[in-house]
Amino acid sequence: MDHLRLQQAFDRYLDLAPDGKKTVATYIFVDLMNNVCAKARTLDFEPKSLEEYPLWTFGVGDDLENSDATLTPVAVFKDPFLRGRSKLVVCDTSRNGKPFGPNGRAACKAAIDRCADKKIMFGMEQEYTILDHDGHPYRWPKYGQPKIPAETAYYICGVGIDRARGRALSDAHYLACLYAGIEITGTNSEGTPSQWEYQIGPCEGVSIGDHMLAARYVLWRCSEDFDVLVTFDPRPIDGPWTGTGCHVNVSTEEMRSEGGMTHIMEAIKKLSLKTAEHLAAYDPNGGKDNLRRLDAAMFCPNVKDFSWGVASRSAAIRIPRLVSDKGCGYFEDRRPSSNCNPYMVAHRMTATICLDE
Ligand code: ADP
Ligand code: MN
Ligand code: MN
Ligand code: MN
Ligand code: MN
Repeated sequence: MDHLRLQQAFDRYLDLAPDGKKTVATYIFVDLMNNVCAKARTLDFEPKSLEEYPLWTFGVGDDLENSDATLTPVAVFKDPFLRGRSKLVVCDTSRNGKPFGPNGRAACKAAIDRCADKKIMFGMEQEYTILDHDGHPYRWPKYGQPKIPAETAYYICGVGIDRARGRALSDAHYLACLYAGIEITGTNSEGTPSQWEYQIGPCEGVSIGDHMLAARYVLWRCSEDFDVLVTFDPRPIDGPWTGTGCHVNVSTEEMRSEGGMTHIMEAIKKLSLKTAEHLAAYDPNGGKDNLRRLDAAMFCPNVKDFSWGVASRSAAIRIPRLVSDKGCGYFEDRRPSSNCNPYMVAHRMTATICLDE
């Protein structure tokens, strides 16, 4: 309840817009651990374009003698928390002019620029799990577990407190993303109680990563308001519970156009020859994190044998039924981990599908 009172207290300050043209810009970036970080600054004017946002720096802990990393603004959204003129500014990170850490945006963009004519698009299904302060799954019994389902699909898209726990956070995040201008497609409760998903996209090229980072920031920021923890760990709960993934949907202009299925099948063939490269890019630790998830029994692809299927949710690659019926559209790679770096994933997919690298 303390926490509710804090929220109400804060609401008294929300409409205190800064004087004149002053603008609060919250810069969002990824640190060495692949965590989303943020720091806010006051600008004396309201920028009208991305180029007007100044460069900034943040201190990286790995090298205290050469600690400054540069933050270069790459995308701007409205700030759903401070509102008014306030902005969220997604940034690329570099040090001494070179990219560093697990961000990978510059490399992703360079690869996509080399095949710009393909007009590659991505949509990512970000799953996450809500936890109590002590790391226990949110609203799970402190002893024992929720009902272990006889049917694997018992909890997916569930409604009601028995099957869906934490909807207020999911809905708040959804509305906050829409307000911000983030391309959010939808939400659903997931295969484990207190596990949720939202979908971002379809976004053109490297912008998928910018929207994904902004949406992760918004989610973590909402979780502060709701006083819960959010984790993107791919397997936060032991036992017969689904892992947490980030399916990546992909298409090129050829795949989206009439007769696109031929191009979808070509891409799947290429992917089948690059399993190791893809698994290495599908979590921030070279594939190690994801191993814990991919042996989870339910709704999980068996990655050791590459497989694909129409409407298959056990294969690595799924062609949605509606895409198959229509003969064109996109396909889904079900392997990326929930904690994946979206730029690294988009880069790897582009390299395999469009650049034959
Ligand atoms: P699923 O049935 O796999 O759960 P969802 O509805 O959760 O599917 O997610 C579908 C995803 O596909 C969304 O992120 C959406 O943005 C993305 N998507 C839709 N059309 C395209 C497209 N042409 N290219 C790439 N991604 C797309
Ligand atoms: Mn300081
Ligand atoms: Mn989904
Ligand atoms: Mn899902
Ligand atoms: Mn999916």
